[in-house]
Amino acid sequence: MKKDDLKSLVTQMYQELLDNIDSQEEPNKEQVVTYLQDAVMTIQNIADDDIDSVEHAKLAFSNAYKEIANKTLASYKNTNDRFEELTQIHEQTVQSCDNKFIDMPSIKEKFDEIQSHMQEEVERANQVISELSTQVKELEENSNLDALTKIFNRRALDSYLDHLCAKKELKHELHALLLDIDDFKKINDKYGHIAGDKILIFVAKILRKTLRDGDKVFRYGGEEFFIVLNRIDANTCKKIAGRILKLLSSNQLFYKGQSLHVTMSIGATMFVEGDTPETLIDRADKALYKSKNNGKNQINMELKNGF
Ligand code: GH3
Ligand code: MG
Ligand code: MG
Repeated sequence: MKKDDLKSLVTQMYQELLDNIDSQEEPNKEQVVTYLQDAVMTIQNIADDDIDSVEHAKLAFSNAYKEIANKTLASYKNTNDRFEELTQIHEQTVQSCDNKFIDMPSIKEKFDEIQSHMQEEVERANQVISELSTQVKELEENSNLDALTKIFNRRALDSYLDHLCAKKELKHELHALLLDIDDFKKINDKYGHIAGDKILIFVAKILRKTLRDGDKVFRYGGEEFFIVLNRIDANTCKKIAGRILKLLSSNQLFYKGQSLHVTMSIGATMFVEGDTPETLIDRADKALYKSKNNGKNQINMELKNGF
């Protein structure tokens, strides 16, 4: 939450407190203490709701996800219980066939009834499943996570960079990497779009595994990723990028009996004072262009004039 917003909130609360005291015949200490406790709670909750925090988005997403998962389980149990009931009726009906005198019309009626209940249950379950998947989809779209790779999406990157660039000064060095899978179109063309999707998930996992806690990885676009490395110098940045390239070349993805293998080109830059999200990304993009032009599967760095 921005400082000015916080100030105006506190001013508003102060005014409310005065109004509150004025409106009481005999205001006492307890009332003021209770009011202040409520105010503290309100501020804490607002800080928790700060959507600028990527960590918060992750938590909110996982909580909402859990809620949907619980609903799914409840609905599944419901359907299961109902099916068990129907199976029992079914068994009873079959047993009644052992009687010497089989009442065909009534057995047929019973089976028809079971069949129609089963049909209803399946329809109901399908409807619940489709509603829940719509909810998950909406949740993913509104959250800061990319639906395919489950890493942060472009929206999270925009908000993260806005926040970063609005800071007057940074306490530590910060580097950014723009990464693009080489010849990805060929993978899609040769093995199909689903294989391509699996490669994106595989690459996202490798990137996440390479990074430390304070670092962040985003899906920037189709087959492009963006990484923010915290508290490291240019040399370490190059080493990390080199490690990513090495991990990619030493790992492969098995898909339908075939081994798929990709390389990436990386453009790196350092965050400098006065950067906007655009200038930072532009420099990383220039560096990436060099990597592509020089033969791909490599890293290049572009630093601002004077750095
Ligand atoms: P370069 O080495 O120059 O980067 O070549 P490239 O083929 O990787 O780049 P290009 O921009 O020509 O093609 C990118 C391809 O990425 C085209 C697009 O269909 C594919 N793509 C983008 N998003 C997705 C996705 O979510 N899933 C899959 N399977 N493919 C995607
Ligand atoms: Mg690209
Ligand atoms: Mg590419």
